Amino acid sequence: MKKGISVAIVGGGIGGLAAALSLLRAGVDAHVYEQARTLGEVGAGIQISPNASRILHRLGLAEQLTATGVKPVALHQRRWDDGRTLLRAPLGELVEKTFGAPYYHLHRADLLDALASALPSQNLHLGHRLTTLVDHGDSTEATFENGTRIVSDAVVGADGIHSVVRRLAFGPEHPNFTGCAAYRGLVPAERLAHLNLETTAQIWMGPGKHFVHYFVRGRRLVNFVAVVEQDTWTRESWTDRGDVSDALAAFEGWHPQLSEILRASDETFIWALFDRKPMARWSVGRVTLLGDACHAMLPFMGQGAVQSIEDGANLAACLAGISSAQVDESLNRYERLRLPRASHLQSLSEENKRRFHLPDGPAQSERDEVMASGTTDWSLQAIAWLYAHDAELLSAPGE
Ligand SMILES: Cc1cc2nc3c(=O)[nH]c(=O)nc-3n(C[C@H](O)[C@H](O)[C@H](O)COP(=O)(O)OP(=O)(O)OC[C@H]3O[C@@H](n4cnc5c(N)ncnc54)[C@H](O)[C@@H]3O)c2cc1C
Repeated sequence: MKKGISVAIVGGGIGGLAAALSLLRAGVDAHVYEQARTLGEVGAGIQISPNASRILHRLGLAEQLTATGVKPVALHQRRWDDGRTLLRAPLGELVEKTFGAPYYHLHRADLLDALASALPSQNLHLGHRLTTLVDHGDSTEATFENGTRIVSDAVVGADGIHSVVRRLAFGPEHPNFTGCAAYRGLVPAERLAHLNLETTAQIWMGPGKHFVHYFVRGRRLVNFVAVVEQDTWTRESWTDRGDVSDALAAFEGWHPQLSEILRASDETFIWALFDRKPMARWSVGRVTLLGDACHAMLPFMGQGAVQSIEDGANLAACLAGISSAQVDESLNRYERLRLPRASHLQSLSEENKRRFHLPDGPAQSERDEVMASGTTDWSLQAIAWLYAHDAELLSAPGE
């Protein structure tokens, strides 16, 4: 294989690490520069649908993900007070057989570990906080707070919602508070044994709030995310230790299963949920973006990290075998292929805020009828556009 171009990836989160593995597999000389001195993820769960797990399996992570992950049998959407089933979409073996890759529930640290352990240590540079970036036309130059200067053929900003690469390449623009905050926590499963929880993702929908829970780490932990609407976010930090009692008060009157889960948790964290409007461009010259840096979305489709994994796979396919002179056009191609799909998911995630949080009344009854008829975006045949997608393929509608 022709010697590949060199790419500096700024940010060692799920998106940056997955992109590095995809790029290395495509023969590109990819290096990750992460500001933190150690890699880490928040103590919480993550849902990984087949459109990303097929990529992770190609990267050689199937064994590790199977060992630590949980394969839910269904997605179960329920009514907030009486627990009535609104929709039950099969996952498990049916999804794996239909789409050729499983649906996983993972502890974030387990996913990050799997990615990091597959990355050669010489390609990971910790303690590197990007400060400046110059596009020289025929190369890029990135400078880090520790004084390191890197020259490469391209720079990829995988540095999250507060992306410095994005600011340096496109100018400042603040993320938008979505009017939602999420209590998150993990509960040892044995404390909830009496609830006989199924191995499903349960999404409880009700007025102005919703609650999600599922097993992670080989069913040893139950992950919960309890989302509440609030007008403002006044705390200094966008994540903070939360009070279990506040979460309990917020879900008073909801089905008792939810208060049992909250009460069994030792601690909870509260997160302000920010997103950004879809961007018109992701690439400028030899610099591009991926993941939350360019398409931060509400987590209500479970697709933020999944899309970042798709981004990396597609970027690798676009950059495979090219010369340095072809970087600009290849990054534009990546943007053309990826931007419409990720933007669509940003708006579907936003729309789910309204749909999940409807107050009881005519709109909620109509929503429930549509869900019961199996024609919503969560039913298996309706979700094929999302799960069947192979981000490594270099074609898009009209290309
Ligand atoms: C409550 C909640 C639930 C969610 N559930 C799901 C789910 O089920 N499924 C799903 O797919 N997604 C989910 N998401 C979304 C998902 O967490 C994000 O989309 C994903 O983690 C983004 O990954 P990323 O690599 O793009 O960015 P990040 O994870 O933010 O990583 C960015 C990295 O860049 C580094 N960095 C930042 N600035 C610099 C700099 N100047 N120099 C060097 N390094 C830098 C940071 O330290 C960090 O390591 C959820 C989000 C929330 C809030």
